Order: sequence, then C-alpha cells, then structure tokens
Amino acid sequence: MRTRGERPGLEEIGRLRTLGREVLVQRWREDLESPVAGIWTVEGIRPHLERWLKRRHGALSYRLVQVLTGHGCFCCCKYLHGIARREVSPICHECGAPEDTALHTMALCASWAPQRHAMVSHLDGDLSLSSVINLMLGSEEGWSIVASFCEAVMALKEASEREREQAADALPLRRRRTGGRRRRYAHLMPPP
Ligand SMILES: [Zn+2]
Repeated sequence: MRTRGERPGLEEIGRLRTLGREVLVQRWREDLESPVAGIWTVEGIRPHLERWLKRRHGALSYRLVQVLTGHGCFCCCKYLHGIARREVSPICHECGAPEDTALHTMALCASWAPQRHAMVSHLDGDLSLSSVINLMLGSEEGWSIVASFCEAVMALKEASEREREQAADALPLRRRRTGGRRRRYAHLMPPP
C-alpha cells in the first residue's frame, strides 16, 4: 500500500498483519502434510500447530530440542551413526534394543523408567510425541515435566557416550575427533 502512495492506519496494519499470519500458518500446515524431512517432529507438532505457535510458556533448551527433533545423543542418529560415524551400531547401549531412537528413549527404554515416571502418570500411558507435546502445551508444569525428563536423560546419555569414547578399547573410529587447539593445550589440562 505504501508503494502505491497509500498510508494505512494502525488498525489497517494490524488487520493485515493478522491476515498475513493466518495465511502463513495455513500454508505451513499444508506444507507439513507431506514433510520431506523431520517426520518425527512434524507428526508430533502438526496436530497442535496453532497452540504451539501461540503458546505463552515453554523455552526450548538444547536437550529438549534434541529429543523433539530426534537429532542428538541417539545411537541411530544420522549424525553419530551416519555422517560422523562415531557410533558403529544403532543399538541402545542401555538396554540392548536394536535401535536407539528418540521414541525409544522417550517412551520405551526400560533404563529411563524412573526419569519417565512423572511423564507417564500425566499421560495415561500414551507416550507418543504428539501426546507429550500436548502435555507440554497444556500447562507450564506439563512443559517442565517433559523438559526435566529430557535434561536428566540426555545428560546421562551424553555422559555414557563420553565414557564409551574414552574407553581404552574404543575403536579409533568412535573416538571424538579433537582439533589441533585441543591437542596444543592438552598438557595444561588436569588428568581425566
Ligand atoms: Zn534402551
């Protein structure tokens, strides 16, 4: 309108903004009908897209995002298992299940039952990502129950991944690759 020399009032600007936002969300929803990547996350968030976007609570921490996206300390993770090739097998090192995925960590792995307790009691047994996200969006308490689970479990998984990397018999492939800078300063660091 401005390029046409018109001067929209505040009310008009507000109306156009709301309309633009609605069109964008609608287009987004249609795009998400046929996701090409991030299917785990999309399936979980799509049923709650409006509420997700309009939520007034809920900060996203690094570890929470790892679980919601499925990218992180999961042995099946494309990065660890595929690109970086630090993990030689996708199995769950905690319980021996054939594939350690975000779903396995969140809902199935027996090793995380104690950490999962609060989540289970709020979710009536349905631990799908969509149901977990519904809990997060329902209240600040719900969000914090899920965030606490992710923080606790992912921290333990990271620690055990580090232990595996440092194990004397670790395959060279699996060891974390350290840069020259780290090597140069290694003698200044306390022994592990
Ligand atoms: Zn497991």
